[in-house]
Amino acid sequence: MKRAGILGTEIDLIGLDAAVDLALEAMNGRNGRYVVTPNSEFLLEARTRRELRAAVSRAYLSLPDSIGVFVAAMILGIPLVERIPGIDFAERLLEKMGETGKSVFLLGAKQGVAEKAADRLCEEYPGLVIAGTNDGYFTSGEEDMICDRINAASPDLLIVCLGSPRQELWMHKNAGRLNVGLMAGLGGTLDVFAGAVSRAPEKWRRAGLEWLYRLIREPGRILRVIRIPLVILVSLWYRIGGR
Ligand code: UDP
Repeated sequence: MKRAGILGTEIDLIGLDAAVDLALEAMNGRNGRYVVTPNSEFLLEARTRRELRAAVSRAYLSLPDSIGVFVAAMILGIPLVERIPGIDFAERLLEKMGETGKSVFLLGAKQGVAEKAADRLCEEYPGLVIAGTNDGYFTSGEEDMICDRINAASPDLLIVCLGSPRQELWMHKNAGRLNVGLMAGLGGTLDVFAGAVSRAPEKWRRAGLEWLYRLIREPGRILRVIRIPLVILVSLWYRIGGR
């Protein structure tokens, strides 16, 4: 599989089906593999933070989740296969995991959200085993205890929704000591699974306007959304040789 650098962050040239197949395959080994889904904010921040770029370089899969990343790639002439929203990847993966009775541990979001997500996932994918849940508001002093809990549950997949870039740094740091098949950093996915946040309708998604839908519902995200045109401008600057 090919990987390309977009503003210094590595992204895989891969489609959704192939990514899910690779993720399922990776679960058979237990060697600290993880999946990242860098968005526009991450790309901008990673330009000056080496540890963010390192966390992505070490990832087993780096999927182009956001429209900003996708447009940046187009400007830079990088042939991404398709945009892969993290939640689409998660849904497809969990569906396949349900068919073979694999297990998932849900880590992240506010208290009670992961449990609610677990209930809904059990309904949606009857064969799926929920190995455990934990909210994402733990202190660094509680980290050993959380890792022990995850290791005792030994899930095939650990979904990590701690917000970006905390989740990428957390997976990078703990990859060596977690007994899990695979980890995936998936932002606000648990909120959507729990029904606390609703996803944009299909038409908006296909038009690449999921960000606008979320902005209308949560105007407080404006400072984050502004990074989408910013990453596009920086890419144009790179393209015309201004770097
Ligand atoms: N979150 C967390 N711990 C933290 C900070 C954030 O568990 O210390 C959770 C937050 O509750 C939310 C998710 O991380 O569920 C981040 O969601 P957001 O919508 O910001 O992510 P996006 O999908 O936009 O990257």
